[in-house]
Amino acid sequence: MMMLGWTRSPLDLIGNTPMVKLRRVTEGLGVNVFVKCEYLNPSGSIKDRMALKMVEEAERKGKLKRNGTIVEMTSGNTGPALAFVGSVKGYNVHLFIPSQWTGSYNPENRIKTMKLFGAKVTPVATDVHREMLEGLSESEAAAAIIAIGMKKCYELERRKGFWWADQIRNMDNALAHKESTGKEIIEQLDGEIDAWVASIGTGGTLFGVAEALIEASVDARVVGLEPKDARVIEWAEKGILNNFLKELGVPKKKSIVEVMLEKGVPDEAMTIGDREAREMANRLCQEEGLFCGISSGANVYAAIKVAKKLGKGANVVTVLVDSRDRYLPEYPNEHYVI
Ligand code: PMP
Repeated sequence: MMMLGWTRSPLDLIGNTPMVKLRRVTEGLGVNVFVKCEYLNPSGSIKDRMALKMVEEAERKGKLKRNGTIVEMTSGNTGPALAFVGSVKGYNVHLFIPSQWTGSYNPENRIKTMKLFGAKVTPVATDVHREMLEGLSESEAAAAIIAIGMKKCYELERRKGFWWADQIRNMDNALAHKESTGKEIIEQLDGEIDAWVASIGTGGTLFGVAEALIEASVDARVVGLEPKDARVIEWAEKGILNNFLKELGVPKKKSIVEVMLEKGVPDEAMTIGDREAREMANRLCQEEGLFCGISSGANVYAAIKVAKKLGKGANVVTVLVDSRDRYLPEYPNEHYVI
């Protein structure tokens, strides 16, 4: 008997996610909005793709060795993804969450998921940098908090046996999406894509897929989204994140968003608020049966807007980034976080 119906590793479950065409949410509009169901990845989000790629490349480049420890600063989906990949591959994973974030929104389920995959999770105290945080706008404060988390990882990485994934500045993050997410999207839609829309956190997803589209000569409009309280494009354009990193003594390195902007991506940027994102995420759940998180709601909200502007018959594609259960401690007032 040939036993072919099994897979060797849980890592093989990453990617090759299905693409669904929305029905009720787009009814009567005459446009096609396609969503790629990234919440079906094994740790519950699109981040599995980049976690695997970054770890494999770090292994290949000799930066991550047997019995090594992976460190990263995360609030959301990179934590569970690195914890999952690390546990399958036998690495220690130590994740840092700026303590401030446990106040403004509740990452309880994300933290529990990281711990269940065997990671150590430690809050990073931000109050020691109280002066740096004083008088900042909400968006600037988010950048400062990220910089504080990055400093913690930088300090650890200088010790033997530690590797910092540095998702914001690690180009292998974007490469993962160029080679897997982007390639799959082009294949699934046979290159018939008029616009590609995605939220920007690190920018890995938006830029990686955009690069795949450019390489395949698919002439699609690229639209990037920022949450109102984390203006990542502005952080790069005005050097906001870099200034905080400099103040904290973290050596400079280009971020994915900086590289992306230099290459003229995206064609358009939109800022989306909590309410629009959450309401669309609710509709996706109730009307389409798609149990996705809040940034997925933002993605679809914007994708519909873009499709309407492009006109009848337009094909717009986006991703459903993560699963809604990640946000349930905040229900019914979940935040749009990236
Ligand atoms: N939405 C959610 C919920 C995320 O966790 C992230 C990444 N942290 C993003 C969007 C943005 O993805 P990227 O980092 O690839 O830009």
